[in-house]
Amino acid sequence: MENKIYDYLILGAGWGGVSLGALLAKEGKKVCVVEKNDRPCGYGYFKLGEYEFSPNALYIQGCREGWNVYEFIKELGLEKEITFNSLDEDGYDRLILPNFSFNLPIGIENITHKLSSEFPDEDEKIEKFFEIMVKLDDEMDFFEKAPTIMNVLRRPHKNLCTIRYGWMTLQGLFNHLKMSHNLQNAIMGTTLVTDYAPDKLSVLVASAEYIGYASCHYPAKGIGHMIKTVEKFAKENGVTFVYNTEITAISNTIDNSREIQTTSGTFRANKVISNLDPQITYKLLGKDAPRKYHYEYSPSAFLIFLGLTDRKKIMEAGFGKCNYYLTSTDDIHQAIKSMTDGLYDDFAIYIGTPSLVANEGEMSPTGKMGMQIIINGSFEKFNQMTPAEQEKEKERISNKMIDFISKKFNIDLNELVEEKEIWSPVDFSKKANRPYGNIYGRSFSPKTLIFNQLSQETEFDDIFLCGANATITGILGVINGSLILRDKLLKIESEK
Ligand SMILES: Cc1cc2nc3c(=O)[nH]c(=O)nc-3n(C[C@H](O)[C@H](O)[C@H](O)COP(=O)(O)OP(=O)(O)OC[C@H]3O[C@@H](n4cnc5c(N)ncnc54)[C@H](O)[C@@H]3O)c2cc1C
Repeated sequence: MENKIYDYLILGAGWGGVSLGALLAKEGKKVCVVEKNDRPCGYGYFKLGEYEFSPNALYIQGCREGWNVYEFIKELGLEKEITFNSLDEDGYDRLILPNFSFNLPIGIENITHKLSSEFPDEDEKIEKFFEIMVKLDDEMDFFEKAPTIMNVLRRPHKNLCTIRYGWMTLQGLFNHLKMSHNLQNAIMGTTLVTDYAPDKLSVLVASAEYIGYASCHYPAKGIGHMIKTVEKFAKENGVTFVYNTEITAISNTIDNSREIQTTSGTFRANKVISNLDPQITYKLLGKDAPRKYHYEYSPSAFLIFLGLTDRKKIMEAGFGKCNYYLTSTDDIHQAIKSMTDGLYDDFAIYIGTPSLVANEGEMSPTGKMGMQIIINGSFEKFNQMTPAEQEKEKERISNKMIDFISKKFNIDLNELVEEKEIWSPVDFSKKANRPYGNIYGRSFSPKTLIFNQLSQETEFDDIFLCGANATITGILGVINGSLILRDKLLKIESEK
């Protein structure tokens, strides 16, 4: 056991743990970060042969000057080392349904205008829809404060739009505005939370996504370089990182500090900050979690990574500095249901090519490129299969997706595949240490967001939560949460 008592022990080196560790170290605090995987951000970047992939980020919001990711990098003095490339301003995300295509432009005004020209008979509904999105974001400022009942009702006159619409799902709002089925699908495809059925997605998340979208970029040298650079800063400022180490228990408070048991021994700190799944954090404490922690999880991810030999050919087929959302049916609801049930009779595929946004040669050898394919999956179905059955099912699903993309883009992807890796929801669950291989942690339903909203504080005054679960998902939300928590912790110390 180490004799040292750290000021802060951070459990997990995801974006939450690493960014908070760096910020606290800059303030001179003694910080230790313990991580189960062998590197920062766990499964967040990995190499397959010569190709680097970033499973949990195709772009990052908030990278423009004045936005929080950029300001965080600048605060650490890393803005010359970590630079960002913009995606294609003519359409970061491109939606291709069987009977409708749409390149999502930047800025709510442009989206409104473009959708109105596609659906001229419904232009008033479109305008109303985006007016509500902007107002919700203005009122809630989602990245700054949680949309809890208390926050909404504290100043009701300032939250009129939230009181009226904030508890709705996207489907509820579609119905309220009496939008046609085609328009619903088009809007659904533009929300960027494409793995969520509209009847499960809170309008508050949709509004935050639309607003943050204007600032999406990708690091010029890839996500791996970005997180390693932040980790290096933290190390140079005294943070101890302990990798390949699983946290197995958190003790009660003894002599004003807590002991953390891990597979590499015991650590002690005055305060513990958990970047882990909050329900797991309570299990490690050996305590029953309060009711608000009994939330449901977001959908499970099924991921395919392809290292492709011919960058030029792929770009000629239409890929570039943008992501694609392809569906086999115009009914996105049906596509999401079929995938979530593990059938794939219908499906919706999100395709990212971050190696085409990063500088050439950074994430893949010059002339080659990587492709990441994200779909939904059924954790339960895979979990009931034998390992051999799982492998067979992974191949079946992956082949179906690759064939579909090949046909849509008129290119034989199979011919160009040099490296391939497939993660079922069960694989993803193990790699990311998430209970059901869930994409975003807690679900984005109105109930979870408004009634089960977690905060960074817990019932214990020496245990805090950081990361997506305590704030909002996405790297912008997580880094913003670290900036907020750093300020709170310093304030608590100064008041002592
Ligand atoms: C498929 C997918 C695509 C996404 N796309 C985007 C995108 O394009 N842009 C974007 O901004 N966001 C995206 N996100 C969301 C974003 O990646 C997450 O919100 C963010 O990475 C969450 O960071 P975190 O620090 O909260 O959690 P995590 O990254 O989950 O960090 C938790 C860490 O704790 C470690 N850990 C867990 N249990 C233990 C234990 N017992 N002991 C020790 N260590 C442990 C884990 O290994 C992990 O490193 C995507 C997510 C997914 C899954």
